[in-house]
Amino acid sequence: MIRKIVFYPDPVLRKPAAPITEVTDEVRALAEDMIETMYDAQGVGLAAPQIGISQQLAVVDVSHDEECITYLRVNGEEATLDEICPLVFFNPELEMCGDKEGDTEGCLSFPDLRGDIIRPSEVKATLQTLDGETLVIETDGLFARAIQHETDHLFGKLFIDRMSSARKLAIKRQLKEMQAEYG
Ligand SMILES: [Zn+2]
Repeated sequence: MIRKIVFYPDPVLRKPAAPITEVTDEVRALAEDMIETMYDAQGVGLAAPQIGISQQLAVVDVSHDEECITYLRVNGEEATLDEICPLVFFNPELEMCGDKEGDTEGCLSFPDLRGDIIRPSEVKATLQTLDGETLVIETDGLFARAIQHETDHLFGKLFIDRMSSARKLAIKRQLKEMQAEYG
């Protein structure tokens, strides 16, 4: 079922989400809905707070472009994006590595808003899956960026927080318009 995406400045986007303590049928159904909602909105990631549910669950799929990363290791073994996406994870713990790198990002909770966001270029993510497994994913490129972006959502952090002061100033009017429309 496609869920309604909540837009900035909905307060749920600012609330640190609760860790998932048990994989119930409800959590599985939620994950399925999130994948469907992400594809429908043509996004590469979606976090549960973005559909109004304050739980540490997120989905990512960047498999449309195998070239968007230079490496991917899952539990120490080389893997392809095709094998791992759509990735559903909860209670993530991230270790950032690599140089900081800027790239354009968008966010489904900010329609029409894009910005250059500087983030560490590589990540080592320890993620829990619905099968009760712990996955350690090491990667770079768009996959590392998407995992960081979605994990930010789970802790109430938004990509606008990571924009440069100049960019923040430039989007001030757009944010005000969003506050008027969705606030
Ligand atoms: Zn987002």
